[in-house]
Amino acid sequence: MRRAVFLDRDGTLLEEGNYVDRLDRLVFFPYTVDAVRALNEANFAVVVVTNQSGVARGMYPESFVGEAHRHIDQRLHAGGARVDAYYYCPHHPEGIVADLRQDCECRKPRPGQLRQAASDLNLDLARSFMVGDRWKDIEAGKAVGARTVLVRTGYGRAAEDANPDDDTVVVDNLIQAVTWILRQP
Ligand SMILES: [Mg+2]
Ligand SMILES: [Zn+2]
Repeated sequence: MRRAVFLDRDGTLLEEGNYVDRLDRLVFFPYTVDAVRALNEANFAVVVVTNQSGVARGMYPESFVGEAHRHIDQRLHAGGARVDAYYYCPHHPEGIVADLRQDCECRKPRPGQLRQAASDLNLDLARSFMVGDRWKDIEAGKAVGARTVLVRTGYGRAAEDANPDDDTVVVDNLIQAVTWILRQP
């Protein structure tokens, strides 16, 4: 079984975009490619798990989510880095797209995306990590027994102030999170 690092997308892997609906709003941090490559080299499965309720809210089509992930992949591959798999939740309980208006199991803080990834990729969740900028990311990680890291990018600073949590490591950003993860035995 493989260890994984689950990465939230907006605010963690990339800049927070507040409903990213265009490719030019996918903004990499200066360290994004290096951080992912370091996890690749350490043989972690790198799995992006992202809530994309903008689909249910009718702000962009579901096809855009796949397009965005292909775009991210191009940038990563050019830098010798790769994401092993992307999972997303297109739902929201108050969405306007009827088929997607649901209280699903895949919207973080519920752990459906992580559980699906574990099943698809044969992951060892207890030896995996979840990195995110919101408590809903951290809760999803905890729900599967992963260790959790909150980053101060995106909504992370506000999250840190709002809800102290002794079990979660708090660091400035993704590259610091990766540095910390790679130091764990
Ligand atoms: Mg986020
Ligand atoms: Zn969902």
